[in-house]
Amino acid sequence: MAVESRTPVAEGSGVHACWVESRATLGFTASAILIHHPTGGSILIDAGNSSNFDAEIEPYEGQTKRWLATFPAALAPKLPLDELLRELGVDPASLTAVVPTHAHLDHIGGILDLPEPPVWVSEEEAALIERGREAVIEEVMPAHAEAVAGLIEPLRFVDEPYEIFDRHADLFGDGSVVVVPMPGHTPGSVGVFVTLPDHRRVFHVGDAVNERAQVRKLRGKTLAMKRTDSDRVAANVNVGRLHALAEALPELAILPAHERAAWVDAFGEPTSSCPAG
Ligand SMILES: [Zn+2]
Repeated sequence: MAVESRTPVAEGSGVHACWVESRATLGFTASAILIHHPTGGSILIDAGNSSNFDAEIEPYEGQTKRWLATFPAALAPKLPLDELLRELGVDPASLTAVVPTHAHLDHIGGILDLPEPPVWVSEEEAALIERGREAVIEEVMPAHAEAVAGLIEPLRFVDEPYEIFDRHADLFGDGSVVVVPMPGHTPGSVGVFVTLPDHRRVFHVGDAVNERAQVRKLRGKTLAMKRTDSDRVAANVNVGRLHALAEALPELAILPAHERAAWVDAFGEPTSSCPAG
């Protein structure tokens, strides 16, 4: 497959990226990438779960509630995200934006622990969040939809290819952080390419796959995890695209949101300090 030209990262752009882990359990992680950009400020890719998780699942019933109280609950944060950021030397009020890969609870919940940052999502994901305000849906928790809806600023994709994707949004205009649409897991899911100063590249794929082995083996999600995909056909298309991308760019670190081993490979260890500048 042909690989489209990519926007070069400005030399010495000074982008600094840290692994912020809000919870780890049994090989899974709930994590964010904290990116400091010298002129664009600091952004978070994903925000993990909310510290108020137990109360927020109250509107659910039956099997859905049992599932939430079992799996996602195991990734509830030990510290609210604002406290965690302060421990890392970051003022939570200084964030330029949070860019969730999608609106599921374990990706936007942590936003509720922050002092109302702008939240950059695709139009499709904004519509999903709006649906979460109108009815109790599994994809977006009512408390999350209510809190995040007023913070949304739409991602502006341009109709120009980036790698194997047809559209992209270059957040800082220098190719250091590039968002691409990856609908399937949710209607407006995105993936985020981050180019580090040493030119290593990380591709945060959200929950497009649960683990890198799926990309390698060209496999969709397991039966147990398929229930989390809103469009299984589109979700499988993403696996095929990621497979082609990994073949074309073997040095690219593909980062599924919850595969802790992938984060260790990309970043080493979770950061204990990540001050700007
Ligand atoms: Zn997730």
